Amino acid sequence: MNASTHAPVAVVTGAARGIGLAIARWFLAHGHRVALIDVDAPRLDAAAGLLATDHSERVLALHCDVSLPAQVQDAAEKVRERFGRTDALVNNAGVAIFEPISGTSFEDWRRVMATNLDGPFLCAQAFLPLLRASGAGSIVNIASISGLRASTLRVAYGTSKAALIHLTKQQAVELASFGIRSNAIAPGPVETAMAKQVHTAEIRADYHASVPLARYGLEEEIAAAVGFLAGSAASYITGQVLAVDGGFDAAGVGLP
Ligand code: NAD
Repeated sequence: MNASTHAPVAVVTGAARGIGLAIARWFLAHGHRVALIDVDAPRLDAAAGLLATDHSERVLALHCDVSLPAQVQDAAEKVRERFGRTDALVNNAGVAIFEPISGTSFEDWRRVMATNLDGPFLCAQAFLPLLRASGAGSIVNIASISGLRASTLRVAYGTSKAALIHLTKQQAVELASFGIRSNAIAPGPVETAMAKQVHTAEIRADYHASVPLARYGLEEEIAAAVGFLAGSAASYITGQVLAVDGGFDAAGVGLP
């Protein structure tokens, strides 16, 4: 029997690029089997192909829109068939728009809520039996400093991330009796494709002025914090939000 058959299992949503891909890499480097979930099939296949060159039997790529219940159920079923359990569920898939209340269409509001809030709810529900099967399951939700105070990206994104932080606390309390912990990471600005898309020159200048460490975070710095919260070093930590933000929230100044 292959030694990796007993390796812990991490499920990472939004894993085709950016922070999610860095999280998948972190788990692979630390001996996990990893299911990568993403709605972007070509990019997911490319990412999984790259990771599989070193870890083929430990990588599972699943095309799935986390906002669609049937697709999420199907992904959970495929993880059950291949790996049999889930030790860490990382709800990282997210979308961002930069729109104030006056300019936000209902369609855009729903699109942001569907991925950023419905997705983590649906994934937690679908993977619950597999998290229970692990005996020490852990959920890590990727929120944002935009969920801790009014968001520079405005109403839809900020509200979705604040609600995700509440979902994290709700899960911590409701799932504790199953031995499942639930925590959130609140990243500050991280230089990813998403940041390039929605961070205007003005937002960038504001962040450089408002982040005490005076730089954007690295994808790997978020991944390391996820690894900590998901693992046994954090076995008595649940219902918490860890800001990984260069001191932005502590400083309490600046944006939006
Ligand atoms: P990104 O856009 O680079 O990657 C997001 C990934 O999620 C993409 O691969 C995309 O295809 C996937 N995705 C989007 N909608 C999906 C859906 N419905 N189902 C499945 N997959 C879907 O973004 P990123 O910057 O790496 O951000 C990752 C997470 O971190 C997001 O939740 C984001 O809100 C959060 N975050 C990012 C920053 C930042 O500055 N980059 C800051 C705070 C929080």
